[in-house]
Amino acid sequence: MTDAIMGGQKYCSGCATVLHKDAFQCPKCGAPQIVAGATGQKSKVMAVVLALLLGGIGAHKFYLGRVGWGIIYLLFCWTFIPSLIAFIEAIIYVTMSDQAFAQKYG
Ligand SMILES: [Zn+2]
Repeated sequence: MTDAIMGGQKYCSGCATVLHKDAFQCPKCGAPQIVAGATGQKSKVMAVVLALLLGGIGAHKFYLGRVGWGIIYLLFCWTFIPSLIAFIEAIIYVTMSDQAFAQKYG
């Protein structure tokens, strides 16, 4: 019984109702559920920061689990083209809604 709560459920951050662990929103009070550090949840802000600061070596790609792309960025970092693409990607991440970002990279 304890395992079921630990593994498959969580408590709402707003009203403490038991929710499914992957729930994005509480059906009772409507509070959005932010699961920092949980599996399958990547921070958009973190991806933007990495793309801007270390985008030339594909840090944001590694962060988002696109390791193959990260290696390609790393191999071509001397051309500065990855830096340029990373800058554009940072803008795309910023303009993306949190939900769209979670669906694509979460
Ligand atoms: Zn709630």
